[in-house]
Amino acid sequence: MIKAIIFDLDDTLYHELEYVKSGFRAVSNYIADKYPISSEGFYKVLLSILKKEGRGQTFDLALEEFGLSLKEVPEMVNLYRIHQPESFRLYPDAERAFNRLSGDYKLGLITDGISKVQWNKIEALGIKDRFDYILVSDDHGRENRKPAPFLYQKMIEEFEVSPQEAVYIGDNPDKDFVTAKKLGLKTVRIIRQQGMHINKKLSEKYEADYEIESLDELEEII
Ligand SMILES: [Mg+2]
Repeated sequence: MIKAIIFDLDDTLYHELEYVKSGFRAVSNYIADKYPISSEGFYKVLLSILKKEGRGQTFDLALEEFGLSLKEVPEMVNLYRIHQPESFRLYPDAERAFNRLSGDYKLGLITDGISKVQWNKIEALGIKDRFDYILVSDDHGRENRKPAPFLYQKMIEEFEVSPQEAVYIGDNPDKDFVTAKKLGLKTVRIIRQQGMHINKKLSEKYEADYEIESLDELEEII
């Protein structure tokens, strides 16, 4: 019997692109303050680079396009990381899931990333009190990012449940399920229509036990 439901954050509970966009806004405002470039113009270029090239070099390429020095990159990265996200919200089915599940199950959050960034998101989404326990990987050392076993084990211990009594729900087969499965947790992959990993299909070892398209389907499988 399932007693604990543990969620991933990015693209599982909210649309991560919304966070990226609000970070791009903060960075574009900084550039517009410093150079004769409109914030809107810089923002549009950042977005189009992201669409074409994916993540990684967005800031460098945008600076190049405007003929600006790459020396701005560290400050842009810093601003992106510390910015307070504007209005961005949970997926509606995530909101509904919290309302249905709380009280009946222990609810946990295991999310990877830079502590400040992930906690800013949790704050902006207003979900801190929705969980019985939250673990952000980098609070416990970068080496404990998924798929390291540490966070899953710590969550299970905190909840005083066996792995078989817990389920982990995430969106990214690269790292979300492989270790959770090995430890004995049930795993669920949520396929978001706008998700970044929607077209990824890996070997069985990396894929979740179940796939759903909405958290409304969750109770049918657990
Ligand atoms: Mg994710």
